[in-house]
Amino acid sequence: MKVQLLPSSIDENGRASARQHLLTIVIDDCVAVDAGCLAMSCTEAQRNGIRDILLTHTHLDHIAGLPLFIDDLFAVLKEPVRIHATAEMVRILENDIFNWSIYPRFSELSNEYGKVVEYHEFSRGSTLNVKHLKVKSIGVNHPVSANGFLLSDGSVSIAVTGDTAETVDFWKACNECSDLKAVFVECAFPDELVDLARVSDHLTPARLKTEVEKLDRRDLPIYVINLKPMYREKILSQLEGLNIDHVEPLEVGRVYEF
Ligand SMILES: [Zn+2]
Repeated sequence: MKVQLLPSSIDENGRASARQHLLTIVIDDCVAVDAGCLAMSCTEAQRNGIRDILLTHTHLDHIAGLPLFIDDLFAVLKEPVRIHATAEMVRILENDIFNWSIYPRFSELSNEYGKVVEYHEFSRGSTLNVKHLKVKSIGVNHPVSANGFLLSDGSVSIAVTGDTAETVDFWKACNECSDLKAVFVECAFPDELVDLARVSDHLTPARLKTEVEKLDRRDLPIYVINLKPMYREKILSQLEGLNIDHVEPLEVGRVYEF
C-alpha cells in the first residue's frame, strides 16, 4: 500500500514545506483520506486517478480542497467524484459549503457524462468498500461528527485517527487488526496549550503518549499528523523528549510503502 501526505505550503525556495495547514493523505494514487489540499497539491496521476474521497470530518483544513477539486475536473469527469461521509457530514457540506453562496451545489449538476458528485453515506462503526480498500470507520472524539479509519488492501492495513481527543475504540480496532503496519495519529498542539487542546478535542505530545500506550504492539511505526504549523517544531521536540518508541512525523510528499 502506497501512502503519501500531500503538501500544503511552500518554503523559501518555493519547494514543498513541512508546514501543514491542510490535510490530505493519498492511498495508492486513487483514494484520498480528506481533501484539505487535494486540488492544490495532487499529482497529475492522482488528479486523474482519485474519484473516491473519504472524509474524517468537515473542518475546513480537511475539506478546503474538495470544492476546488470537483470544480477543476467538472467538464472531464466520466464518473462522479464519490464522497464517503456520514449523513451528518453530508448535511454540513450541502448546507454550509455547496450552498451556491460558498460554492455551487455540485450534487445537483451534471456534465455530458452524468453526475459529477455522489455521496456515499456510512454510519460510524461500519465497514465500507472504497475501490480496492476495505475501510472500517471508527467514531473518534472531536467537536463534529468525526471518524478514524482502518484501511486494508487485503494484505496490509493502516490506521488513521483523523482529528481527535482521547479515544478508546480506535485503539481497540488497532489491537484487533493482525496485519496492521502503521498508525497515523494526530497531535495538533504543544503541551503548554493543553487547555486549548481540551476544548477543541485535540492531542498534545503528553496526551499522545497516553494514547499510544493503549496499543498492545510496541513495534508499530507511529506517524504523527495534523501538527499545527505554528507549533510544529515545539511539538516535535516535546515528542522527542517523551522517548516513545517508533514515533516520527509523517514526512510531507514522501511515498511510504507498507
Ligand atoms: Zn478538526
